[in-house]
Amino acid sequence: MHRSAMIIKHNPAARVVLISACSGVTNLLVELAGGVPDPARRQQLLTQLNDIHYAVLNELDAPDPITPAINALLDSVATLAAQAATQPGAQLTDQLVANGELLSTYLFTQILCELGVNAVRIDIRDIMRTDSQFGKAIPQPDSIRALATKHLEPLLTQQVVVSQGFIGADQHGNTTTLGRGGSDYSAALVAEAIRASTLEIWTDVPGMYTTDPRITAAAQPIREISFSEASEMANFGAKILHPSTLVPAIRQQIPVFIGSSRAPEQGGTWIRDRVSDAPLFRALALRCNQTMVTLTSLNMFHAYGFLAEVFRILAEHKISVDLITTSEVSVSLTLDQTNTGGGAPQLPEAAVEALSQLCRVEVEQGLCLVALIGNRMSQTKGSAKEIFGSLDDYNLRMICYGASPHNLCFLVQEQDAKSVVQSLHRQILEA
Ligand code: ASP
Ligand code: MG
Repeated sequence: MHRSAMIIKHNPAARVVLISACSGVTNLLVELAGGVPDPARRQQLLTQLNDIHYAVLNELDAPDPITPAINALLDSVATLAAQAATQPGAQLTDQLVANGELLSTYLFTQILCELGVNAVRIDIRDIMRTDSQFGKAIPQPDSIRALATKHLEPLLTQQVVVSQGFIGADQHGNTTTLGRGGSDYSAALVAEAIRASTLEIWTDVPGMYTTDPRITAAAQPIREISFSEASEMANFGAKILHPSTLVPAIRQQIPVFIGSSRAPEQGGTWIRDRVSDAPLFRALALRCNQTMVTLTSLNMFHAYGFLAEVFRILAEHKISVDLITTSEVSVSLTLDQTNTGGGAPQLPEAAVEALSQLCRVEVEQGLCLVALIGNRMSQTKGSAKEIFGSLDDYNLRMICYGASPHNLCFLVQEQDAKSVVQSLHRQILEA
């Protein structure tokens, strides 16, 4: 937090700072929100939460102005957690989980003030208007812009405004969340609303890499990448960005920087509309915990309307689809997974029932999605051979290629995933 505060102090152009919860806090809150009936275990989690926040509070020169607010929030977490133990639910989850950001923003504002920055904390729920889909609420950019003009812009001339990422409120004032990792998305929405000139995302890695450096040490940092490539990366697994983050930035053409607050001197990645270099192969992203659903029509050879009906049912159950491939009688798809609850996405029972009226439904798990990001892949001769040539030891469960010139995706078994990425990286990204 101190390092992040120094970054802000040294950048006089910094106007609005949205922050996430302290490290580990959202996970603890999600567990409590799921319902922890054993009081001893619940107390243990609550104690961990208290310790995390008190560890920061105790480092402050002047904790007094914020201590009562911190205590009140920690108390409210305990009350909500007791409620969740008997009756967990999506709305309660958001209310509970939001406390991570409400807490961290008190601490961070105080740190900035102690460093001599004129900082003020506001509640983003007055601005971040969303619908009422708890766990993965959809922001409403027009309302957000109007609310930002009213509540945020007047503060920007003199001060650095600190507020919460990840959380919002619906039109009735109920607390909502934008899905795990949603703070970046929040920042992009606010940047759009105030027509910021730049959006900087300071995280724990120095930008985007050709693949996750934990998978292979040969991964290289990417200095500059286009909006289209970066969107594909965010969408298909590079955990560095929430998949929706770039949407508002692209709408408003705001360049985005990603860097590490642990090592700001290392620089990071710039994401913008036009970039000087557009290589055929740029990066590999991996996302596990995939749920693949195969739907086989019972008696509909050459019939029309099968897919329309399938997607109508999926839409009715608010199921978002990631990948899709089709054959004459069947369609396979993977389910999108970004809601605050976490884990491998499930096909709701009611959706299975509705689909079963129409077709045979098979669900497979234990799969990982490998996404290859690049440029003009579908227009370049020989690119498929180069890609698949290094993968003849693996079973590829599903392949999606051609819809976008920027990406090729496939599913592999979980136990193969890392070695697939390593071989492919060696073959096409290590020149
Ligand atoms: N604190 C939230 C989470 O852990 C939001 C974020 O980190 O962006 O998912
Ligand atoms: Mg986070």
